[in-house]
Amino acid sequence: MNDFLKNAVSGVQLLQPYQPGKPVEELERELGISNAIKLASNENPLGPSKKAISAAQEVIGDVNFYPDGAGHKLSLALAQKHGVQQACITLGNGSNDILELIGRAFLSVNSSAVYSEYSFAVYPLVVQAVGAEARVAKAFPADHEKMPYGHDLNDIYEKISTTTRVVFIANPNNPTGTWFEADELTAFLTKVPDQVLVVLDEAYFEYMPEELKPDTSTLLSQFKNLLITRTFSKIYGLAGLRIGYSISHPDVADILNRVRQPFNTNMPAQAAALAAIDDQAHIDNSSSLNALGLKQYAKAFTQMNLKFIPSIANFISVNVNKNAMPVYEGLLREGVIVRPVASYNMPDFLRITVGNEEQNNRVLTALKKVLQET
Ligand SMILES: *Cc1c(COP(=O)(O)O)cnc(C)c1O
Repeated sequence: MNDFLKNAVSGVQLLQPYQPGKPVEELERELGISNAIKLASNENPLGPSKKAISAAQEVIGDVNFYPDGAGHKLSLALAQKHGVQQACITLGNGSNDILELIGRAFLSVNSSAVYSEYSFAVYPLVVQAVGAEARVAKAFPADHEKMPYGHDLNDIYEKISTTTRVVFIANPNNPTGTWFEADELTAFLTKVPDQVLVVLDEAYFEYMPEELKPDTSTLLSQFKNLLITRTFSKIYGLAGLRIGYSISHPDVADILNRVRQPFNTNMPAQAAALAAIDDQAHIDNSSSLNALGLKQYAKAFTQMNLKFIPSIANFISVNVNKNAMPVYEGLLREGVIVRPVASYNMPDFLRITVGNEEQNNRVLTALKKVLQET
């Protein structure tokens, strides 16, 4: 028993730490192999943009100085990209940092937050850490015609109570890859009371087909209580640098800024992100490769008679028709790291990041072998 647990604040006493994907080096050390692949954390198989690497390298010699705490150049470029005022942008040490800031600024033991079943693990962490009540909406059922396991925006709306200060929704959602359409989102935002902050997590926005992308600047001008989070960790391939941001009404950004660490985003990350925004070719290549990979998995799973959740993100969750933990472990022995999602209450599923064609083939070959053995 941890002696200090009783001294921790009550929300923290009940927390379970976030389980990250297993690092490649750890598996290689354990198995004594050298060719493991990790498709467990939705990282970009093409790596970062070359422009981003050079930009980070250019500033690395200046890191005796503190970074620009407000990240002026980057936030200006982001404001221009999104057609909003610079005061709408808040930079975060990953978009995860923004989610934390929202918890600290808007939630307490006297309030509640709403999110869906099968949604990103960080929402419950942020809510529980400050002792707020989590009001968890039902997702669409597994046999739903249109969007199995997807967010049911009606039930999310129904779960909002007088104590609710924040609603977290993700489009597309992790770990399901599911989405909702722009008009469904607008109808939802129209109903939600003005004083409830709606956090729309768009970590995988750039992977979405054009026709499904909601119009960011129109939505923000229409709904003062909307905050959108984006990240450089996924399609931009900068997960290791930790940089993300939110776009919100300046009044909301002002509040986040009060709890933000003065230097929450680092100098190489700001420089790399600024350069990455302009490398449209890298984004286009990453998104085309991903679309091919999603098709490759869908085709293979269908041939293997495995059900999967249709995804528009850079990962796909597949039902292995049995407890997925031994399958996950079998894949590890083949040098393939994917993500079990039992902690999301999806014990029969594995979430697989879309890699390049060769990596995807390796996953599929290993999966066929392991499914026969388990
Ligand atoms: C990966 C992810 C994030 C954020 O990651 P950061 O690296 O902290 O920017 C946020 N939301 C969802 C749904 C994600 O999958």
